[in-house]
Amino acid sequence: MTLIFSGNDYKYEIEGIMKLFIPASRFKYIYSDSIDVSDSYAFVCSALDGENTRLSVKADLYGKKAERELVVGKDDSVDEELILSKLLYQAMSEITGIKPKWGVMTGVRPVKRVNKYIDKGLSYDEIRELFSKEFYCSDEKFDIAYKTAAVQRKLMQTVDKRSFSLYVSIPFCPTRCSYCSFISQTISSAKKLIPEYIDRLCDEIRFTGQLAGSLGLALDTVYFGGGTPTSLDASGLARIMKAVSESFDVSKVREYTVEAGRADTITEEKLRTVKANGCTRVSVNPQTLNNSVLEAIGRRHTVEQFYDAFDIAAKIGFEHINTDIIAGLPTDTPDSFYSTLDGLIRLGPDNITVHTLSIKRAADLNHAEDKPIVLKSPTGLMIDYASDILPINNYQPYYLYRQKNMLENLENIGWSKPGCESLYNIFIMEEIQTILAVGAGASSKLVDLEGKRLQRVFNYKHPLEYIKHFDLMLEKKKETVDFYAEEK
Ligand code: SF4
Repeated sequence: MTLIFSGNDYKYEIEGIMKLFIPASRFKYIYSDSIDVSDSYAFVCSALDGENTRLSVKADLYGKKAERELVVGKDDSVDEELILSKLLYQAMSEITGIKPKWGVMTGVRPVKRVNKYIDKGLSYDEIRELFSKEFYCSDEKFDIAYKTAAVQRKLMQTVDKRSFSLYVSIPFCPTRCSYCSFISQTISSAKKLIPEYIDRLCDEIRFTGQLAGSLGLALDTVYFGGGTPTSLDASGLARIMKAVSESFDVSKVREYTVEAGRADTITEEKLRTVKANGCTRVSVNPQTLNNSVLEAIGRRHTVEQFYDAFDIAAKIGFEHINTDIIAGLPTDTPDSFYSTLDGLIRLGPDNITVHTLSIKRAADLNHAEDKPIVLKSPTGLMIDYASDILPINNYQPYYLYRQKNMLENLENIGWSKPGCESLYNIFIMEEIQTILAVGAGASSKLVDLEGKRLQRVFNYKHPLEYIKHFDLMLEKKKETVDFYAEEK
């Protein structure tokens, strides 16, 4: 598929729209005022025409054609990129017969937009209409975004502006899942690195403790993620958690999560250790309750191991247990997904997070190049089932986000029993609190006191780079001080 741009360069957004319809396509980009290609194409044009600007698109998919045009005054203040995206969406919908449920909303945080409109005083109906008219978002997706915002708002109001959350990255896993898009090394390949990684991580925690202290920031929530933090042994976990409690005032911490993640890393000793060191919330993630699917994705643990790990966590008595599952896993079927979800509901964790599979490369999808997505796909059915069954079992959506290359442009939703929402997940998604992040692959997200400025500070991605360039990285971390200095 060739994307031809004339008078504009909205490459990122236009490609995003095309991927809603033909996710596996590889795109060629051409800048030209004419269409001179023999294969499928989309021509996206912005042209001055006297006192006007003519915005037009022409699309051709295997000979099926559609076009749209809109003329606006050349001095009108319009969002050309959005108009062209909408014109292309209309043309591609006509060709394929598909209307993606999020419309032209290709961004990560649709709930943030809902929150903005609520802040402006708009009602449910007014925002629904805006979502529909401006972004072609379906009422169904809008409704879930709105409900998510409604749950979040009460919790967002509890954030102290001088507080922050701490993210600790442990980028190791026992084996690599076939769909993984995270920076994570297998424990066996990283074995030699791990002692030094823990040393440096503890150093960075101490450094960050001093930084936060000098800025007068108070620690609010802690999140250990990765990777799978419980890939480390109990003594390694204890060392890192002690570095946290010695470097920060943890007396006011409202939530302390450790992603135990994979059942094959969980032991009673490790869970008792993390609880003794302050952890209040653990994730024990089955991803599916179907052994053949677990095998297909290379998780190397069984459903029975998940149940055992969950029982240990329940016995030890964490305040909250989260479980993650994924819709759209290779070899999974709607029926098998439904029984996974039913099984989890019977188990009754406080949170069930339903992810949609995100594929690293579009070519990994089960689609031929340029083949449109199907209307009633298995993954769509799985997500619809979750949205139907969870509310009637007392779970409400409390955070929602989307990622690049998610199957069918769907979403991830964290569901929670009332009062059991994870604060950290809301803060990171809605970008309302500074996250100071430590460890390889972590990135700090600085949010100013007014919640208007946002800056990221990246750590080195791979553990080896992280260790090698540690001093340089700490130097860079001082950008945090400059960021807060601008407040004055
Ligand atoms: S457990 Fe998570 S981070 Fe680890 S390999 Fe699997 S998907 Fe990647």
